[in-house]
Amino acid sequence: MSARILEGKVFAQQFKEDAGRRAAILREKHGVTPGLAVIIVGSNPASQVYVRNKHKSCEELGIYSEVIELPEETTKGELIAKIDELNLNKRIHGILVQLPLPQQIADCEAEILNRIDPAKDVDGFHPVNVGRLVTGEPGLVPCTPAGCIRMLELADIPMDGKKAVIIGRSNIVGKPMLHLLLARNATVTICHSHTQDLAAVTKEADILVAAIGKPKFVTADMVKPGATIIDVGINRIAPKKLVGDVDFEAVKEVAGAITPVPGGVGLLTVAMLMQNVVKAAELQVGK
Ligand code: NDP
Repeated sequence: MSARILEGKVFAQQFKEDAGRRAAILREKHGVTPGLAVIIVGSNPASQVYVRNKHKSCEELGIYSEVIELPEETTKGELIAKIDELNLNKRIHGILVQLPLPQQIADCEAEILNRIDPAKDVDGFHPVNVGRLVTGEPGLVPCTPAGCIRMLELADIPMDGKKAVIIGRSNIVGKPMLHLLLARNATVTICHSHTQDLAAVTKEADILVAAIGKPKFVTADMVKPGATIIDVGINRIAPKKLVGDVDFEAVKEVAGAITPVPGGVGLLTVAMLMQNVVKAAELQVGK
C-alpha cells in the first residue's frame, strides 16, 4: 500500500493561521504589531526569491516587514552597523540575514549572525538560542526542524518512545532536529558521512529524517516498512526540476507516511518563520 503523503501546504496553512491569530491578539491586546527585518546583501537570484516570499507571507498575516537591500560590496562593519541599528529598533521583533553572504564577508558569517540580539534571532542560530534548545528553555528554534516537528504533531505521528534517525548533522537542520525529537522522548540516532553501514541504522527508524543534500540518496531498501519519512533535501537536478534526498517514488511504496519534494518541508519553513516572528514579539512584550 502506498504511503500517506504529508502535504506541506496543509500544515503550512495551519501554521500561518495560528501566527495570524496570535499577531491579531498582540495588536489588539498589547498594541504591538510584530515586525520582521530581512537583510539581503548582493543580488543572489535564489535569495531574492526567498526574501520576496517571506515579505509576502508577512503582508498576508498582518506582520510588519522591512527588506533591507545592501550592495554586493558591503563590508562586515557596515553589515554589523545595520544589525546594531535593528537590534535597537522597537518596531522590529525579528531580524534575519539572508544567506549565503557574498564572498568577501562569508568567512565572518558566525560573527555577523551572533551580533543579532538573541531575542530577535528568528532563525534560531545564535548560540544563546542553541543553548536554550539543548537545555529545554523557551527560545527561538530554527524554522525548518521546528516546522518538521510541528507537522509530526499535527499529523498525529507518535514520537514518544519511537526510534528516530536523522541523516545529516548541520547546525541548521540535523542538530536542532536531534534535540527537538529528544525533547519529545524519541530515541534518536544522528548519522553523517562517516557513519558505517548507514542502511542498517536507517532501517531501524520509525521516523527517518533526511537532510543530506544528495538527490534521491535514501532508497527503498534503507527504509523500515511503515516508517515516517521526512525529506528536508532540496536538490536542483535540472533548471526546472527539484528533487529531495529521498527516492520518493520507490520509498512511498514502503513507508507509512512521507513528505514530497517539492511541496513538503520547504513550505513549512517560511510558515514557521512567521510563527517565530510572532513568538519573538510575544516574548518581547512578556506575553
Ligand atoms: P549540510 O551540507 O550542512 O549538511 C549535510 C549533512 O549530510 C552533513 O552532516 C554530512 O555529513 C551529511 N552527509 C553528506 N553525505 C553523506 C553520506 N554519504 N552519508 C551520510 N551523511 C552524509 O546541509 P544542510 O543541513 O544545510 O541541508 C541539507 C539539505 O536540506 C540540502 O539539500 C538543503 O538544500 C536542504 N535544506 C532545506 C530546507 C528547507 O526549507 N526544506 C532548509 C535547509 C536545508 P558530514 O557532517 O560528515 O559532512
